[in-house]
Amino acid sequence: MSLTNDPTQVSVNLEAAESLRCDECNSAIFKQRFILRKVSALLSPTGQEMVVPVNVMQCAECTHINEGFVPAAVWEDIQNGESNPEC
Ligand SMILES: [Zn+2]
Repeated sequence: MSLTNDPTQVSVNLEAAESLRCDECNSAIFKQRFILRKVSALLSPTGQEMVVPVNVMQCAECTHINEGFVPAAVWEDIQNGESNPEC
């Protein structure tokens, strides 16, 4: 008997899966963060200005974000943020 009828639930063999680790401190624990990109009305599919959240995973230990974890388009935003820890 299956525990779920959710078709989006994918069965993964974790034994065969590799843990990704932080490039800086080698931690395997990450937390979810968002970068918000504002889309101008000219480029928006709705014709109105909109905010699009971009999901990124940040190291829970040292707050580093691996470059491979984010789309190239927002990588510059992350680097700017990392250089400003007061923000
Ligand atoms: Zn780290």
